[in-house]
Amino acid sequence: MIIFSDERLAALGAVCGTASRHGGSGRNIKNLKRFFDILNIDFSNMLRLKQTHGEKIIDILAEKDFLSYKKSKPQEADAWLLGKDGAGVIILTADCAPLYVWDNGGKFIGLAHCGWRGVVSGLPSKLAKRIKEKAGNNAKLCAYIGPHINSCCFEVKNDVASMFGQESIIKRDGRIFVDLTKEITCQLISNGVGLGDIKSECKCRCTCCDAENFFSYRRDGTKNALISFAYKAV
Ligand SMILES: [Zn+2]
Repeated sequence: MIIFSDERLAALGAVCGTASRHGGSGRNIKNLKRFFDILNIDFSNMLRLKQTHGEKIIDILAEKDFLSYKKSKPQEADAWLLGKDGAGVIILTADCAPLYVWDNGGKFIGLAHCGWRGVVSGLPSKLAKRIKEKAGNNAKLCAYIGPHINSCCFEVKNDVASMFGQESIIKRDGRIFVDLTKEITCQLISNGVGLGDIKSECKCRCTCCDAENFFSYRRDGTKNALISFAYKAV
């Protein structure tokens, strides 16, 4: 199993990343439990969402947020703002992009499930704004865009294409493709994240092209989903 991650997050003491398909599908609780057992992280401290392709962000900043969420059922939202040590959060993706945004001090880590709907609703912008709000205007933001469907495979019709900026649309042989990486990057840059502070898994990490490493909804049509997580070690 490979965990695709960013060494800048590891340097801050956070355990984060997107597992290859060998980590198992995150839709299955037994898989999730086994996965976090392997990482030596207590699964009962890992919070889950009911993802809706929306733009809601849930804050886990204080002990009380963490304890009350632990007792509740997974709530409808597509992103987390994590600022509590000893707590962790999970999102699931199968072509959508897992997006990590954090302040360079490592106090706050945002993790979002960015499919095209969330992206056109401005979820990457919203997440960057929230981190800035919490960390203060002087904080430098960093971002990592995990493995997702790339513009080689993300073909759309006119209705979806019309919701994206021209710079994120690629036309090839009369077909239209969306560059999600580009759209997410543009939103982050307009919220003060430097281009050099945004890292992304490259073209060879397209979830739809690389069946050996990834689940892909577009390719497989199944509900299997990759596990992305962020855990703030104590
Ligand atoms: Zn591809």
